[in-house]
Amino acid sequence: MSYWEIAIERASTNTLNSYRRVMENYPYLKDLAIKVRKAKEEVLKNLDYYIDLTLKSVEKTGGKGYYVNNAEEAREVIGKIVGKGKLVVMGKSMVAYEVGLRKYLESIGNEVYETDLGEFLIQLADEPPSHIIGPAIHMTKERVEQLLREKVNKNIKENASHEELANVAREFLYEKFIKANVGITGANAVAADTGSIVLVENEGNIRKTTVLPPVHIAITGIDKILPTLELAIAEALVQSGFNGLYPPTYINVTSGPSSTGDIELHRVSPAQGPKEFHLVLLDNGRKEAAKDDVLWEALLCVRCGQCHFHCPVYRVLDGKWGDPPYSGPMGAMWSYVVYKDPLPATLCTHSGGCKEVCPMEINIPRVLDYIKWKYNRKSS
Ligand code: SF4
Repeated sequence: MSYWEIAIERASTNTLNSYRRVMENYPYLKDLAIKVRKAKEEVLKNLDYYIDLTLKSVEKTGGKGYYVNNAEEAREVIGKIVGKGKLVVMGKSMVAYEVGLRKYLESIGNEVYETDLGEFLIQLADEPPSHIIGPAIHMTKERVEQLLREKVNKNIKENASHEELANVAREFLYEKFIKANVGITGANAVAADTGSIVLVENEGNIRKTTVLPPVHIAITGIDKILPTLELAIAEALVQSGFNGLYPPTYINVTSGPSSTGDIELHRVSPAQGPKEFHLVLLDNGRKEAAKDDVLWEALLCVRCGQCHFHCPVYRVLDGKWGDPPYSGPMGAMWSYVVYKDPLPATLCTHSGGCKEVCPMEINIPRVLDYIKWKYNRKSS
């Protein structure tokens, strides 16, 4: 067995057990998921209205909102905010990967570090992510040890524990957080009524990325908008529950730059956290998909990553299915939505496991069948 096969097998066993435990212990998550699906449907039917409302709400909190059509525009807007010669820390963001942000910021003269452990590992290895929640799940502990010894600390002892390996990254990144000029994150959900972003995590790296540097930039897709902050937080709970890591260690809500009302209850900004907050909302094929009678369902995805582990194709292909960062059954849909690549969908064998576990009840086999049909029609 290759180390990829071993790693995916170990990760699948661990996650399936924790997923079942979470579903048994917190049955309310299923009801919450139904509520979130209805809210997302409402937004997708009225995207322009909700994009406009979100951008206005961000401005009201003292932040700056941007709507960008594609990856190029996203890189341009963020490149201008960041500038050159900066130290940038990044929280895990699939949309940042989608637009090639890290490599672009490096190419214009910035020092950039991924701070999520999995993302940090794939940055060190210069490999694509293999799963939307655990980007380095294709790496065994032995491979991680070897990589960290080569790139970060040659003194790591043989057969280091999981804890010791995590600590190597923690020590290396600590100084980067303190010195960073800019923090860049994604967003699990965006609240249209308040302009807040919600981020769910376990490591604490996102909390540091959003608070320590003087400038915070969040980039996310327009599909992440929810009508209210209440529903945006519900979305984060659903995402975390269905990925099997529940309760999440942290849920972060950011509404504009840091502020204080401690002098006469007059709210002013900044306080101890960032002086600037920027939210970049990306289309990149999402609006077109939202108008399609079948494809629109893909936009309901909350990125829980559970469909991957219930899919024989993903497991047989050792995680190498879909156009990075999108992988597995959701990735086969999203490869088409944002990259117009129908080929991952053609590998689907329609086992249907993905549909059974999807919290948004997306009919993934139907969407993939539709993409196949479009592809076959075009090539015949
Ligand atoms: S398609 Fe459904 S199961 Fe798969 S990642 Fe998205 S929400 Fe989760």
